[in-house]
Amino acid sequence: MSQFTYNNGVMHAEGVSLSAIAEQYGTPTYVYSKAQLLANFDSYADACAGRDALVCYAMKANSNLAVLDLLARRGAGFDIVSGGELLRVLAAGGDPAKVIFSGVGKTVDEMRLALTHGILCFNVESIPELHRLNEVAASMGKVARVSLRVNPNVDAKTHPYIATGLKANKFGVAFDDALDTYRAAAKLANLEVAGIDCHIGSQLLDDAPLLEALDRLIELIDALGAEGIHLHHLDLGGGLGIDYGDEEDSAPVPVGDYLGRVFKRIDGWRAERHGGKPIKVIFEPGRSIVGNTGVLLTRVEFIKNGEEKNFCIVDAAMNDMARPALYQAWMDMQPVVQADTGAATYDVVGPVCESGDWLARDRALSVQAGDLLAMKTAGAYGMTMASNYNTRGRAAELIVDGEQVHLVRRRENPADLFALESLIK
Ligand SMILES: *Cc1c(COP(=O)(O)O)cnc(C)c1O
Repeated sequence: MSQFTYNNGVMHAEGVSLSAIAEQYGTPTYVYSKAQLLANFDSYADACAGRDALVCYAMKANSNLAVLDLLARRGAGFDIVSGGELLRVLAAGGDPAKVIFSGVGKTVDEMRLALTHGILCFNVESIPELHRLNEVAASMGKVARVSLRVNPNVDAKTHPYIATGLKANKFGVAFDDALDTYRAAAKLANLEVAGIDCHIGSQLLDDAPLLEALDRLIELIDALGAEGIHLHHLDLGGGLGIDYGDEEDSAPVPVGDYLGRVFKRIDGWRAERHGGKPIKVIFEPGRSIVGNTGVLLTRVEFIKNGEEKNFCIVDAAMNDMARPALYQAWMDMQPVVQADTGAATYDVVGPVCESGDWLARDRALSVQAGDLLAMKTAGAYGMTMASNYNTRGRAAELIVDGEQVHLVRRRENPADLFALESLIK
């Protein structure tokens, strides 16, 4: 059930009308539902109940401190990709012992910071990174727990959405090199080989490629075990898709179904090995935790009817929501107040000076200047990818909890944007 529904013809976030929110807080504004956020996390947590499993929210999807705090209090760990993200986890009261650190380019300073705080594991993506981490840990008199991000090279032909699990990309260690890389890691004195991980792509509607990746990881875990290298955890990454409301998309597999199949496979594998040592399972969901928790609320500035196209010019832009400009992503755009007058077809665009600055194309909308629109399913990779291009302050962020509205990030004003700059003396 969505937390963004029409009540008397006006779209609400939980119990609060988006019209009232726009009146009080202005636009463009990200509005998140606390109930939706917790329900999404719980769908993972419930499927993991009674198991040795950890859900590490991939916070690059939405890293607002209030979001992190709500998830941390619910028991979430975090998947981070920078030292800055670790500082956010700490600022939000998250537990560094439940943090895993992903990414291909970790700096010495970032490694030091993460070791200082005793994170759970580094997801290492190359041999040079293993050596750097070993040296940094040695210089601090510490041992770093590592997992290798393996690139399972699952078949792309049948799953065109997979973007990161193939041989031809910058992520991970090639499947065929994985054993050698583990042997190299096991020889480094200040590393503890703890796990294996993969992350094969994003917005996967079908879990077949994820289960195929799991099978490949299991193959490696068995091969490593045969050499006396025993892993503490296996981490399947994130990537589960969500319903953006695009009619062409099929419905994404429910979280519980996917996790159920993962655990069934793992239980079967353990039974085959006559009750071999249990292994902790980690998931790194991002989009499926926060995507449908948010809308981007925007107001129509002008309607501009052209010879070939009609434009609906709004006060949100590609700097607020980059997904359409960046990936030609289809995002649902709905009026906040339902109108019964005739609709026309519009491209919904922002004021930024780029032709790529569009939010939605060829949409039937019944709109006038001054109306409010809600871009749905905007909670993931929205605010975290926002920029200040065109010296536009980033949007405010709100969390609605029932009838209550909490401002969790104030709108940036222009003075904020050049506060760090100085003139040549
Ligand atoms: C981005 C990312 C995730 C989260 O992906 P979603 O598709 O948002 O679930 C998980 N793990 C890693 C390593 C990532 O880079």
